[in-house]
Amino acid sequence: MVLVLATRNRKKREETVAILSDLGLTLGDLSAWPDLPEVEETGTTFAENAILKAAAVARGTGHWALGEDSGLVVPALGGAPGVFSARYAGRQGDDEANNRKLLEELARRPDADRSAYYVCTVALADPAGRVQSVFEGRCHGRIIVMPRGSGGFGYDPLFLIPEYHRTFGELSPRVKHALSHRARALEQLRPVLRRLAQSNSWIGVPSESGVGRPSADK
Ligand code: IMP
Repeated sequence: MVLVLATRNRKKREETVAILSDLGLTLGDLSAWPDLPEVEETGTTFAENAILKAAAVARGTGHWALGEDSGLVVPALGGAPGVFSARYAGRQGDDEANNRKLLEELARRPDADRSAYYVCTVALADPAGRVQSVFEGRCHGRIIVMPRGSGGFGYDPLFLIPEYHRTFGELSPRVKHALSHRARALEQLRPVLRRLAQSNSWIGVPSESGVGRPSADK
């Protein structure tokens, strides 16, 4: 059985593959379906967008699909960049410009306003496009004043994990994959995926699998 990762973001894909590597799933890459149209992220929440991606990719490929939407939330900025994290400064995926804009927005604010958290919502859809599970993970930190480190992607060089005194840009992938919002969302999905990996004929997920269940905010 194939589980298609509904993202064309290479970094997200690499992180997801690393976190799920022990499950023995065949993880499909969207590059095998170059004609599949880009899924428009028209939702106003991470969950809506993750569901849109999972359902569209499952229907388009005829396989189980894992949709993911993630981003950075700064409560002092009214939740920005939020679902617009990838295009905060205007251009989709311009990490440098996004980071610059974030620093500018926080420049003249008190230190307390630098609290932030990452959110990741994952949605699993069956080959007919029916969403079977949705889970959210969060990871709390602070936005520092100058980028540090070159690991990870996106806002990672600005995102400090206070307990480690290091940004996600400085921490090793092993540590990020243990602490991150993505790891925490996927951790909750893990038992569902394990059952899926064990059964080729398994086409429905029991209702207690987690549809709409709120996540633990760690
Ligand atoms: P999406 O592709 O619409 O889900 O946008 C995700 C965006 O959120 C990325 O482009 C980054 O700006 C940000 N983001 C999500 N997860 C991470 C992460 O693990 N590190 C850094 N930035 C992230």
